[in-house]
Amino acid sequence: MFSAQGEDWVGRIDALTFHDGPFVDGRIVLGHGDPLTLTAPRDGRALPVIAAASPGDVDAAVRSARRAFDEGEFSRLAPRERGRVLRDVAEAVHARADELALLIALEMGKPIREALETEMRAVVNCFRWYGEAADKLIDESPVTGDDSLALVTREPAGVVAAVVPWNFPLTMTAWKVAPALAAGNSVVVKPAEHTSHSALLLAEIAAHAGLPAGVFNVVPGHGAVAGRALGEHPDVDVLTFTGSPEIGRRFLGYSAASNGKRVWLELGGKTASLVLPDADLDKAVRATADGCFYNQGQMCTSSSRLLVPRARRDEALEIAAAVAADSEPADPLDPATGMGAIVSDRQLERIAGFVRRAPDDGARVVAGSAARREVIPGGSYFAPAVIAADPSHEVAREEIFGPVLSVIAYDDLDDALRIANGTEYGLAAALWSDDLKAVHRVSRRLRAGVVWVNCFEEGDMTIPFGGVKGSGYGRDKSLHAIDKFTDLKTTWIDLS
Ligand code: NAD
Ligand code: MN
Repeated sequence: MFSAQGEDWVGRIDALTFHDGPFVDGRIVLGHGDPLTLTAPRDGRALPVIAAASPGDVDAAVRSARRAFDEGEFSRLAPRERGRVLRDVAEAVHARADELALLIALEMGKPIREALETEMRAVVNCFRWYGEAADKLIDESPVTGDDSLALVTREPAGVVAAVVPWNFPLTMTAWKVAPALAAGNSVVVKPAEHTSHSALLLAEIAAHAGLPAGVFNVVPGHGAVAGRALGEHPDVDVLTFTGSPEIGRRFLGYSAASNGKRVWLELGGKTASLVLPDADLDKAVRATADGCFYNQGQMCTSSSRLLVPRARRDEALEIAAAVAADSEPADPLDPATGMGAIVSDRQLERIAGFVRRAPDDGARVVAGSAARREVIPGGSYFAPAVIAADPSHEVAREEIFGPVLSVIAYDDLDDALRIANGTEYGLAAALWSDDLKAVHRVSRRLRAGVVWVNCFEEGDMTIPFGGVKGSGYGRDKSLHAIDKFTDLKTTWIDLS
């Protein structure tokens, strides 16, 4: 399992299950919104059209979620039993991981190997982990004195809505859905337009594995219609969002204009990878370039800024350019491929624009270009770019969400920290050094939710993931994620 090798993935496309409408109350229903017409970025082929959710369909999903929550078939199960259902979901998803991975690779163009061996492994692991955690949560009874008993208990919030992006579509979904369900909530997921088919199949698999109708609904649809309808719905208790800062902040407005629901935002990033003078430059630059190009650069954590001592910038550029040359895009459905297609032509044009404009700022394109690559006719392919940039240049400031690495020189540690912290974002940072004191002192001064030291993108389910500043404040993963979807209740009992 979780191996993409030796399969004829193209030959398996025809056997895939595609759903054509929202998954509400345990079944696929007719959507009343404008249809979602989707194409595969691998070769531009049309994927089956989905009748998208209208605001009325979103309302039906929220009512179903509320009914399921109130009736308690899942929400009031003993935590041990809820945990068992989540572990059954994990096993059912595991059994159909191939199909889900193939859908993801078709929908958004990531290599099948990554879709299966990284993404689906993470999804299965996430459901399993929260399934194992569900009955290990312990409430509090503060010591108050002889005449009273105080209980601080955690209760599920009720109806949780999740609005998620396409870059790690089912991982992001699982990171929200699994802890929300572990706590006993019902959920309504609005997947990104591009990755609606995989989300619908996931919900169906979860329902077959034992989640009662209404506990896990999926409303595919246009962001400004279905996403907004969830944001403004008066009966959604918690809304958890991962996506761009611009859209994320709108949800604060939707909340303010409706019921004041809690909104958790996990937004973009512009990760700095800071190489201290003592570090192994070759190792640090290779890991940073790989981290920047991974998932075709469509990562919130993409290590898109490499900060090196000024005297070593040329050397760093050379190493990064060599990594770029080794990362040519290829067919996502070939199990040997490490760099696949860009999600859409629109996104490709946006990425290319940053590379095209870079010289206007005075930046120097050292590897790659603004030209698209022809890999499969009709597909959206772009080769990685490496750019010698200053901190003020557009490529070094804005989230590109593509495989474009800015290599930036710094003069001393204060300068390096000023540059590293000098964007609106604060999601992740990387630090390269073997100097123990420097590692601790510098990592404390990096304004980021996650700091990786001498590694990149490492971690497991025990650690929270999320940002500070413009990157939002929500935290996925770990037991802390459960806090987002629960309310604390205080019960004070008079014993006098
Ligand atoms: P996006 O903000 O365009 O879309 C995210 C979701 O919001 C989608 O489901 C979309 O349909 C919906 N949406 C769009 N317009 C809407 C509107 N007007 N009202 C309500 N909902 C709307 O993001 P994207 O392009 O899907 O993903 C890329 C972004 O996501 C990047 O900025 C990236 O950094 C971020 N991201 C962050 C994390 C993290 O954990 N911090 C992880 C992955 C991606
Ligand atoms: Mn977008």
